[in-house]
Amino acid sequence: MDAPSNVRRGRAHYLVYMTSSTDSLPQTRHLATAIPGPVSTALHREREAQVSSGFGVTMPVFINRASGGILEDVDGNRIIDFASGIAVTSVGAVNAQVQAHVAAQMARFTHTCFMVTEYDSFTQVAAWLNAHVPGDFPKRTALFSTGAEAVENAVKIARAATGRERVLVFDDAYHGRSLLTMAMTAKVNPYKKNFGPFPGEVFRAPTATRLWARGGGDATAATALAGVEALLLENDPRSFAAMVIEPIQGEGGFLVPAPGFLAGLRELATKYGIVLVMDEIQTGMGRTGRLLASEHEGVAGDLTLTAKALAGGLPLSAVTGRAELMNAPHAGGLGGTYAGNPVACAAALGVFEAFEDGTLLANAVTIEATAREVLQPLVDSTAIIAEFRGRGAMLAVEFADKDTLEPRADLAAQVAAACHRQGVLVLVCGTHGNVIRLLPPLVIGPDLIRDGLGVLRNAIVAANAAQTDTDTASAAALAAV
Ligand SMILES: *Cc1c(COP(=O)(O)O)cnc(C)c1O
Repeated sequence: MDAPSNVRRGRAHYLVYMTSSTDSLPQTRHLATAIPGPVSTALHREREAQVSSGFGVTMPVFINRASGGILEDVDGNRIIDFASGIAVTSVGAVNAQVQAHVAAQMARFTHTCFMVTEYDSFTQVAAWLNAHVPGDFPKRTALFSTGAEAVENAVKIARAATGRERVLVFDDAYHGRSLLTMAMTAKVNPYKKNFGPFPGEVFRAPTATRLWARGGGDATAATALAGVEALLLENDPRSFAAMVIEPIQGEGGFLVPAPGFLAGLRELATKYGIVLVMDEIQTGMGRTGRLLASEHEGVAGDLTLTAKALAGGLPLSAVTGRAELMNAPHAGGLGGTYAGNPVACAAALGVFEAFEDGTLLANAVTIEATAREVLQPLVDSTAIIAEFRGRGAMLAVEFADKDTLEPRADLAAQVAAACHRQGVLVLVCGTHGNVIRLLPPLVIGPDLIRDGLGVLRNAIVAANAAQTDTDTASAAALAAV
């Protein structure tokens, strides 16, 4: 087949879509073509000729429009969005409040650099975060652009405030793709492979998460905390500037800590004068049914990090925390050309408005109830689901052999692919790649949630049946030997 002519055909078709209707997107799943369709396939071929192959892709479809719980691709397929661009478009990919604030800001100016001349929306975002982030103490906020930048700056702030160097992170942690945050991230492939050496002074401690609810591991809060303290004591606890933890570990597999683990970390941090940094980049901004996930545990970080859903898809991140820590770096020590960009700040003000009436938080709780109803029974009725877990609209199923708890990345990939073929976008995560995670936008409607969950459930049931057949066949083969 002649590739260039395909590309031209794809682009022409795509432009027709781009300029076609502006009416609202129907909130129903619809398959117009196989997925990916011909236009996406042609555009993907062109992408491969132009874009670094260092970028992967979960589902190779090109999006034309998005709204509510639907992504519409350039072939006219309407896909149920259980990803939200990795927990970003929580208030919807086209949110009226975000649009209004952004449009007004676009008409005024796009950038000044906050380090050069000031604008008030930066202060307003800071004030909102200071008021809403857990912690009953005076706070200050610094804004940046990406999550990794927020993590890096939290470490800079903790070092400046304590005069110490070391950073404690945890098993299964994910903190980003910059050099320091790669060092802090646990998973090697794909994040760290071939990219070292990494900055030093990063230590990794055990967590109390993996399958604790099923008694599948030794990681209760008490045993894990004993391990954390032992590691600190071996390495001089007073050499640690910061302890960085995700209140629910995201990329690591949506690992919910055992009750008491976060509170125990809070105690250890206080005991040894270590800055406790809550990485709420994925869990924050309503994702778990509370504004910040650390609220579920009644634990406040000394510094709390937000990004992803903070500005409804525009790049914005924040470090919020104790005033005396936040004011420790010298003037001019923090910043960045785009840090707290005014268009992104305007978008965040729209996001804050969207959360005001409580509907989105309530919907996160409803999403959890529906998903629990549909997916929890699979833990007992199949031999391949080890756990259903999560909070609010941050939910996951873990694939593992029921008896051995051996991770089954192959089954997670197979089920995800089946969902994608049927127009349901799910993401795989987990240190072992064996977890399917659900991160629907908080504006998704109940019918779409049920439809998408039904597709996922059926794919799991089919994979389980195929697996059972395979097991029976190999048992029979063994018996025949
Ligand atoms: C996504 C994520 C980051 C990194 O954010 P980027 O904006 O991709 O740099 C850091 N921590 C957690 C918990 C995340 O989920």
